[in-house]
Amino acid sequence: MTPDTSSAQTIDFTFSTVDIAIARLQERLRGSVLTPGHADFASASAAWVANTVHNPALIVLAETAQDVVEAVRYAREHDLPVAVQATGHGAVAPIEGGLLINTSRMLGYAIDPETRTARVEAGVKWAHIIEDLHKHRLAGLCGSTTDVGIVGYTLGGGTGWFSRRHGFAADKVIAFDLVTAAGELIHVNGESHPDLFWAVRGGGGNFGIVTAIEFGLIELESFFGGAVMYDLADAPAVFRAYTEWVQTLPESVTSSIAILRMPPLPMVPEPIRGRAFITIRAVGPVTGGEFLIEPMRQLAPVIMDTFGCYPFNAIDLVSSDPVDPMPELSTSHLLSDIRPETIDAVLELAGEGKDFPVLMLEFRHIDGAARKASLTDSAANRHDAPWIMLALAVPFAPEIVPAIEAAHTAVAKALAPVRTGYTFLNFVMKSDDPTDLTRTSFTPGIYAWLQRVKKEWDPTNVFRFGRNIRPEA
Ligand SMILES: Cc1cc2nc3c(=O)[nH]c(=O)nc-3n(C[C@H](O)[C@H](O)[C@H](O)COP(=O)(O)OP(=O)(O)OC[C@H]3O[C@@H](n4cnc5c(N)ncnc54)[C@H](O)[C@@H]3O)c2cc1C
Repeated sequence: MTPDTSSAQTIDFTFSTVDIAIARLQERLRGSVLTPGHADFASASAAWVANTVHNPALIVLAETAQDVVEAVRYAREHDLPVAVQATGHGAVAPIEGGLLINTSRMLGYAIDPETRTARVEAGVKWAHIIEDLHKHRLAGLCGSTTDVGIVGYTLGGGTGWFSRRHGFAADKVIAFDLVTAAGELIHVNGESHPDLFWAVRGGGGNFGIVTAIEFGLIELESFFGGAVMYDLADAPAVFRAYTEWVQTLPESVTSSIAILRMPPLPMVPEPIRGRAFITIRAVGPVTGGEFLIEPMRQLAPVIMDTFGCYPFNAIDLVSSDPVDPMPELSTSHLLSDIRPETIDAVLELAGEGKDFPVLMLEFRHIDGAARKASLTDSAANRHDAPWIMLALAVPFAPEIVPAIEAAHTAVAKALAPVRTGYTFLNFVMKSDDPTDLTRTSFTPGIYAWLQRVKKEWDPTNVFRFGRNIRPEA
């Protein structure tokens, strides 16, 4: 009897076909194709959010817009879904299978001081351009850390220390170069593709891979800002004073209040290691900023006060976000208000002496220009909500995950009277179901419109990873 070897032959044939296809793809690229087993595969798929471990079938380390075109065309030919990653700060869920386009080598940028605009490629972080912006006395609408990618941050809305005065980063976009699900590189602006232009600004990476983005800058050399820290025992008085003060502020000041629990780790400076605090952070103008912020610096015995006048390129010191990749389990809600009862409920959970496993529980004030932008400006966060709550926990060990999840549930319950039911797309995070929660980032009307745009440009949901909007309900 002749042994049946047909299945083994099929497998061999399949492998060699794929190998040839990958070799052909490599020939068409300036960048590199990485397959599992390649020495750089793990580092090229690693995300900043370290507890999201991606497992793509293939990685294209793109260097040019044409590399992105070739990668998407390859994915189309081989029926692969496509993911994109610049830094992995927004790695909300693992990428299983599919083709991952890593844009971290696409680092070209140009700043035009005359028109006060910048054009940056897909891998550029705010940190890459901040010194050059500052040389021209210009600034971008970056967030609490300059370590995030400009494209990913902006597509998710982009809120930061200038939001009350200047709005969201998404509303500053002038144009995109974008590779569609069909593998075409197109220029998108308000005239060429108005629906797509509206959707991409706030709807995230659902509609194509942005290879470059052009956006407006603000004239800014320096700011008055920083943070003041008090012992958590002083939280009741500090919280109340803050919520009254914040109502009196002009839009030139953006601020937040946060409960911080510093882990007892060597990387944390000794005076604050292992301790709990209430902190007020704020950024305002050089002229008048100190006068406006001063009342928040004398509410109780001060443990640390970094307020001062700084050049724009020192903006990271306000939040002092971590830079090294780390695991995180976070939740976020948009709030309509912070009332005295809200403060009481929050302190009951997370105040002095409570065993609360969340490192930072922050309330960011976004009332102002960001809230005034209209529905037709862009899809970014049109919720009319003045506050974003962010609860950030770090699962240092798997055993503490249940306690963290219970804490997130308790926070949501405590904030129930002021929760709008909506989230800010950029803060749809790891502990959430990204697809379902993406829906909560938009009103039903905006979501339905985004789905229409998605259906037109990506009907088979090629770009389905991360904060996904499905083409169908
Ligand atoms: C420590 C920390 C601080 C943060 N602070 C703020 C803040 O102050 N304000 C704020 O608004 N957000 C903030 N974020 C959220 C952050 O802006 C989002 O997670 C954003 O998506 C990160 O973009 P990225 O490119 O760096 O991350 P990545 O994980 O590389 O990308 C995230 C997503 O962005 C999309 N994307 C990225 N590149 C492209 C592209 N070229 N084309 C199409 N889509 C693309 C994709 O959907 C991708 O899944 C913070 C996040 C962290 C972890």
